[in-house]
Parts: sequence; C-alpha cells; structure tokens
Amino acid sequence: MTINAYGALAGDRALELLSITRRAPSAHDVQIDIAYCGVCHSDLHQVRSEWAGTLYPCVPGHEIVGRVSAVGAHVTDFQLGDLVGVGCIVDSCQHCEECDEGLENYCDNMVGTYNGPTQDAPGHTLGGYSQKIVVHERYVLRITHPEAQLAAVAPLLCAGITTYSPLRHWHVGPGKKVGVVGIGGLGHMGIKLAHAMGAYVVAFTTSESKREAAKALGADDVVVSRHAEEMDTHAKSLDFILNTVAAPHDLDIFFALLKRDGTMALVGAPATPHPSPQVFNLIMKRRSLAGSMIGGIPETQEMLDFCAEHGIVADIEMIRADEINVAYERMLKGDVKYRFVIDNASLMA
Ligand code: NAP
Ligand code: ZN
Repeated sequence: MTINAYGALAGDRALELLSITRRAPSAHDVQIDIAYCGVCHSDLHQVRSEWAGTLYPCVPGHEIVGRVSAVGAHVTDFQLGDLVGVGCIVDSCQHCEECDEGLENYCDNMVGTYNGPTQDAPGHTLGGYSQKIVVHERYVLRITHPEAQLAAVAPLLCAGITTYSPLRHWHVGPGKKVGVVGIGGLGHMGIKLAHAMGAYVVAFTTSESKREAAKALGADDVVVSRHAEEMDTHAKSLDFILNTVAAPHDLDIFFALLKRDGTMALVGAPATPHPSPQVFNLIMKRRSLAGSMIGGIPETQEMLDFCAEHGIVADIEMIRADEINVAYERMLKGDVKYRFVIDNASLMA
C-alpha cells in the first residue's frame, strides 16, 4: 500500500512530504495506523548523515504509537483497535543468545526501525514519520496508559527505555544517589524514572533556564555543570551517572563526582568522540565508564507497564509533520521541553 511520510532525499536536504509503500501484513505481522511519533535526537543524527551509512530516502521516527488496523493469520496477542507501540527495533535474528534472553537490542542482526536492512522497498526500513507501519508481532508493545495520554506515551518507546534499562541494570533505587546529565528528551525521562525508582536524583544541565523545571520533573538537586563550585558540592558522592548529552564534552568533571566503584554510563551518541578521560580519574577510585543501547522487547514492555502504574509520561510539545525542520533546529539549541511529538494526522493533507 502507498502512504504519506516525511523524510529526506539526501543528508543536506530538508525533510519533505514523500510517498512510500508498506508491505501487506504476512502471517506474523501487525499493521498499525500511526497516531503519533516522537522526535529523537537520533533521528536528526541519522537523517543528516552525522553517523556513517545513512540510506536515502530516509524516513526517521522510532517512538511510534497507534492502533492496530490489520493482523496476519497467526497473530494471537493483538487485535484490531488495540493501542500499541513500536520502538527502535523491528526485527532481529530471533535465535542468538541475545534474542533468547530478550536482549534483541544487542543482537548482531538487530534491524532498526529506520535505516535497517529489509526485503521491503526501497531495501531499507522506513520509520514512524509516516501514516502506517507493518511490524512482526514480536516487536510490537502493548500500551495500557489511558488513551488521552497516547501522544505523551510515544517518547517512552525510545527515550523511556534507553534511560530505564541502564537505571535498572546498575540497580538504581532507594539509598542510591544518581546523576542525570543533559536534560533533553532522554534526560528528562531519566530524572522521572530514577525518581520513581526511589533514588536521590541530581540533574546536571548546561542551561540555567532548566534549573527550576528539572526540580518539577523530580530532581532533588540541580547543578549547572559550568559552575565548578556547584559541581564540587557533589564530589565523590554519586553511585551512578546516566550521561545523555548529544555532543562531545569533558567527561572528567563528572567522573570526579562518582564514589569509589561508581559507574558513568553513556547513552548519548555524538557524531564525534568525547575527549578521552583521564586514566587516573578512573583508577584512583576503581570507577567505570560504560555504555548502554535502548533495551530489549520484554524490558520495553516492563518499562511501559511501570510507567502506566506510576502515571509517568513524557513532557511534550506537539507539532505537525511539516514543522519538523524547524523542530530540529530548536532541538539543536536545546529549545524543547522536553520532546517534540508529531501528530501523524497532519500527514493526511
Ligand atoms: P536532546 O533532546 O537534544 O537532549 C540532549 C541534551 O544534551 C540537551 O537538551 C542538553 O541538555 C544537553 N547538551 C549539552 N550540550 C549539548 C550540545 N552541545 N549539543 C547538544 N546537546 C547538548 O537529545 P535526546 O533525544 O535526549 O538524545 C540524546 C543523545 O542520546 C543523542 O545523541 C541520541 O542520538 C542519543 N540516543 C542514544 C540512544 C541509545 O540507545 N544509547 C537512544 C536514543 C538516543 P542541557 O540543556 O540540560 O545541558
Ligand atoms: Zn531514539
């Protein structure tokens, strides 16, 4: 079927209205009418070819929510009209150790929701800035939030799971002091989730203007990271730091805040590397530098259920699809509180 989408034909071109095709659902497929799609900084990195290997046309979008509009003959868990989501993963090998453990995000053959290999035209996957998507049932998530919150649920499918997974992996909870660096789409979810898990949360921002807002998100303390004396008040006191910053920066000022055996996990994926950290900053307190990528399908469902139970959604600003180019420029300036979400009904026109 032919549908409308918003995407780019080259890395130096603005996004524009495109016509794309979706396969007819096969036995294990779920077809979704997309209601809303969140706008992740990864969309911008990918569509502008800031990471290697972008294929064009590129239709970004991996924070997808909508309603099931068709199911294949062997699909049993989803029915027409169900509220569902799709995140960053639409396929994987389904038989390696990672897939067996529900860690499809670490499968060597994981297929991303956009720019991944597929038999479908045009030979690479096309994401959620589009009217519909067809996805194997294994990668479809169930949404139990009230329907009125649907748009604000969309960002949970990437920003939510990318922060939830490392917070769980590094045992964030009561009695732990946790730093969240960068208060953008990912960071604001990191604050909400770490707070809901019972940790003491310190938010680190470069934006003085976000100081009060970060408290409203659930931060117990907020530090403007440019102010050395403010940073010093947390020296050697944090158990874990989640770093979501989308640009290269000095990591050492944050390592100095970790306790002995503390870990800083990077989830931000800048186009060019961070300056290498000082080795002594790590070895003197047995500190660790780690990374984490989104999360597996079972953990994504767990995160959605956790958020529904705790009344957690993203703070969003809704846009029309044809406002996406302006939204990208604003995202680069940190001018969004805290996630743009596309109203996919605007693709009808
Ligand atoms: P975002 O909304 O643009 O937020 C990034 C935040 O980083 C900004 O709001 C800003 O917060 C801070 N920042 C400080 N200096 C910056 C600079 N020079 N340029 C840009 N940001 C700066 O982005 P996002 O959607 O949260 O994504 C963050 C990063 O995570 C991106 O690189 C994205 O590709 C990556 N990502 C990784 C995964 C994964 O699986 N690991 C998944 C999704 C996204 P303050 O104003 O508070 O300083
Ligand atoms: Zn993302």
